[in-house]
Amino acid sequence: MRRALVLIPLLVATALPAQQRPLDVLLLNGHVLDGAGNPWVRQDVGIVGDRIQFVGNARDARVTARDAIDATGLLVTPGFVDMHSHAELETPHGKAALSFLYQGITTVVIGVDGGGAANVRERFDGYLRTGMGVNALTYVGQGAARGAAMGAADRPPTQQEMAAMKAFIRRGMEEGAVGMSTGLFYVPGYYATTDEVVELNRVAAEYGGIYDTHDRDLGAAYRSIGFPASMREAIEIGERAGTSVIFSHLNPQGRHNYGKAAQAARIINEARARGVNVMAAQHPYTATQSSLSAYTIPRWASVGGQAAMRRRFEHPDTARMLDVQTLEMLDIRGGAEKILFVDRRPELNGKTLAQVAQGLGLPVPAAVRRVLAGGNASVMNLDLYDLENAKYLAQQDWMMTCTDGRTPPPGAEIVHPRPYGAFTRKLRLFALEDPVITLPFAVRGMTSLAWTFLGVPDRGLIKPGFYADIAVFDVARIRDRATYEEPHQYSEGTVHVLVNGRFAFRDGKPTAVLAGRPILRGGKMLPQP
Ligand SMILES: [Zn+2]
Repeated sequence: MRRALVLIPLLVATALPAQQRPLDVLLLNGHVLDGAGNPWVRQDVGIVGDRIQFVGNARDARVTARDAIDATGLLVTPGFVDMHSHAELETPHGKAALSFLYQGITTVVIGVDGGGAANVRERFDGYLRTGMGVNALTYVGQGAARGAAMGAADRPPTQQEMAAMKAFIRRGMEEGAVGMSTGLFYVPGYYATTDEVVELNRVAAEYGGIYDTHDRDLGAAYRSIGFPASMREAIEIGERAGTSVIFSHLNPQGRHNYGKAAQAARIINEARARGVNVMAAQHPYTATQSSLSAYTIPRWASVGGQAAMRRRFEHPDTARMLDVQTLEMLDIRGGAEKILFVDRRPELNGKTLAQVAQGLGLPVPAAVRRVLAGGNASVMNLDLYDLENAKYLAQQDWMMTCTDGRTPPPGAEIVHPRPYGAFTRKLRLFALEDPVITLPFAVRGMTSLAWTFLGVPDRGLIKPGFYADIAVFDVARIRDRATYEEPHQYSEGTVHVLVNGRFAFRDGKPTAVLAGRPILRGGKMLPQP
């Protein structure tokens, strides 16, 4: 099948005489980076429908198009794949995925961190009905499965509950999920033992699925196992079940892990050397984003959910213990000054935890409990990642890229800048300004490597027969503009973006065309409902 798709356009390009039918779109005279890691070549790229039909010299081949665009001096690459995304395609403000398109991203992988629901088709049909700016693949989540079967219970599953979780994963895989994700750092995924996750991952393995891990301990988890043991656990889960493994947002967390990227890389390389298909994705920011409770409240205090946690807060002995342990947790994370609220509540947004505590006139641990009593809050942890670690990891040939970004909400509040700039920032910092990797290598990790890992044979290269997900850049202008202080700024340097052959972005502006499609495991697209 794949071979046929590749051969037919070649025959068209070489065998037909001058009077052949014009193509739909021609990008003329660009610097084409094919996505495989090769240096750029000056070429013309022709598109018919949703596929690339022609790559070469259009004049010599007498190829014409209804819509011909001069791309002289511009970089033409396959569209980028966000391997770990919180894009909210289901929301009115998220369906166009503008902050992603502005970076050249044409596909997002969602359902990450253990959160993917099992009703893949229903969700995808919903996206199709309202329209989507980028393509999407999804995982089905172990955390979602456990939550559905057992709530936030901190115990092993019964046989029945295990059967229910397996059925959850199976339904997701049957409906086209690309694999199973976990967020073993988070409740309820955290309560699962390695063996429990292996058993569930065996269901994903039956379908040739991927295991996507947000580790139990990325390095800053409280009284936990440390990032090396945590990485080994993830590899074990994939290896025993028989799936490939991808580490989400890989970079050892915490100041105590600055400079330890080589250790993380070694763990992956050792697994690869014995035949386990392990890879990773990264973003180039030093701040993480999660919830206040995950960062400041030990697991024992949040067992059983929000109401149970609030009852514990009211008990004086428990509060005394939390006074100590919250401070210990914050110590690992750099202190209350490094916790910045990106919550929508205006009284919190943009303030550090230290500032909020001061405003409340409370010691920090008591302030944490006061805030959490009103519901969990979104926070960033500044300076948790070492940029030098990220640069080291960027050089590994199994490294892909992700935003880990949630669609920015409408409004002016402070959010993490990553949904606006993860890819352009990585290109700028690691490949252009002070390069540790070449541009072709960086683009390869954002394109063909991702699609090959995802098991989709006809995306991720500028090549006849491949889907026309294409980004066109003015390299001299590529940069992220979103900062922690002023996050709501789109990236620059992107000139055109085509999603499935249609312009989602043209001449530096979005077109409002929602050309994204859900992509099922293996690469099939869902038909329009
Ligand atoms: Zn994550």
